[in-house]
Amino acid sequence: MRRFFVAPRRAARAFALWFFISAASMSMLAAYEYQSGLSALSERSRGIETLLAERLAQHDAHLTAIGTLVRMFSRESAPFLQGLAENIIARYPRITDIAVFDLTAENPQSWNYGSVDGPMPISAPPRDTLPHLANAGETEIRPSGVTNSYDIYKLVVPGRMLRMRINADALLDKQQIPAQYALTLGLGQSVLSSLQNSESAVLKASNDLTMHNQSQPLRLTVTRGFGPAELLPLQLVVPLLAALGAAIWLVTYFRYANDERRRQEHRAELLEQDAKLAHAARVNALGEMASGIAHELAQPIAAILAQSQAARRALTIARPDIVEKALEGNIRDAKRAGDILGRMRAYISGAAAHLEEVSLFLALSDAVRLIEADLAQRNIELLVIPASEEITVTIDIISFQQVVLNLIRNAADAAAPGADPRITVSAERERNDAVIKIADNGPGIDPSLLDRVFEPFFTTKQDGMGLGLPLSSRLIEKMDGSLSIRNEGGACFMIRLPSGASNDLPR
Ligand code: ADP
Repeated sequence: MRRFFVAPRRAARAFALWFFISAASMSMLAAYEYQSGLSALSERSRGIETLLAERLAQHDAHLTAIGTLVRMFSRESAPFLQGLAENIIARYPRITDIAVFDLTAENPQSWNYGSVDGPMPISAPPRDTLPHLANAGETEIRPSGVTNSYDIYKLVVPGRMLRMRINADALLDKQQIPAQYALTLGLGQSVLSSLQNSESAVLKASNDLTMHNQSQPLRLTVTRGFGPAELLPLQLVVPLLAALGAAIWLVTYFRYANDERRRQEHRAELLEQDAKLAHAARVNALGEMASGIAHELAQPIAAILAQSQAARRALTIARPDIVEKALEGNIRDAKRAGDILGRMRAYISGAAAHLEEVSLFLALSDAVRLIEADLAQRNIELLVIPASEEITVTIDIISFQQVVLNLIRNAADAAAPGADPRITVSAERERNDAVIKIADNGPGIDPSLLDRVFEPFFTTKQDGMGLGLPLSSRLIEKMDGSLSIRNEGGACFMIRLPSGASNDLPR
């Protein structure tokens, strides 16, 4: 069952499609059945018409035969007339009565030569109720006073009129007519006989015919009714709906399965692309990392180099005190390089910063001490303005010093070409924050580039890597702080860190 499952929305669409196609097919089937019904109707109408025409012609023939005897009417011929009339009535039960009227007498006399009840005298009708026929051979047809019957009058010779009464009900073989048909036999506006069958029909079609018979121009209406079962026969409807349903379901299912397969292929392609992208990102990150490490290690390694060179010179002039100082510096800078690598590893692996509560003044002084000599060598003035009160901050001290050193190095690079290069490092409390400013008197930063300096790899230096500021910003964020920049003469970088109240930590 699960095999032929499709999504509910598709199932609903398939059902709607099945519904509309079924409705259209049912309409077409009903139209086809209606059309076939119409053909059957005209065939049956033709059959009834032919039968009726034959019977009406028989009436004409009988009228002619009886008329011949009436013309010869005399006492001698009366028994023949009687015999013939009785014979006709016996053989053709629809002819119920044959009578002759003598119009020459004052009051017309009449003779009944045969009727279903046998010969019997009939009272002559008043003359003016009989048809006025002028010439011998002329006929007239009228509904008779008897239910469902009509009379044919024929003037045989002047003064002698023949009347033949016919039961219209017996003219048509009603029991032969199938249930869905209705018949009406009329004369002028009067209905002589009718058969109503198709009452429950939802649709009806009729054929109106006028009989081409001179003496009996009867009107015949044949109606065919179409019930729901005729228009939509169950033996066709049920298999048709089932076949349509099965076909639509199969098409829907196969299209769904096809789409599903394509979607899975697409998903697999996307996953493959994702994997490639992730790999590319890892490679990229690796490069970024390597550059970051190189950037951060450059300063302690340069210091170790300078100190080692100084020690070598000191050996030649036998100054062990300078050698010792240089070696101490080497040890300190090598440790620092190790610390930087450790922090870098923690930063790369996403480990949390190692936060501790320290005096801001001490943290800043340590950092400044590391770069003082370098700045002095480059004739760059460094002004440190401590806060008016003691401030404690919760920071990762090595990361913090890395950031401060990085900002001072950048400030030095910017200020150095100027006439009086100067860097100012100051600390302030602003409500619950500690704000450290590192400002220089260099050219500042082009306002259109202010937003870009924190982007990785943005640099305006020939040998720059553009990683110092993005890394610094990340490190400060890890301490819940922020790093921002504005131009104040030169560039002014601001480190903002959360700070508790002042305490008594030593300066
Ligand atoms: P790098 O120093 O390798 O270029 P950074 O991320 O540290 O990378 O700095 C990015 C850029 O920001 C520098 O190239 C420079 O254009 C600009 N910049 C940084 N500090 C200053 C400053 N104090 N004055 C002027 N421009 C600065």
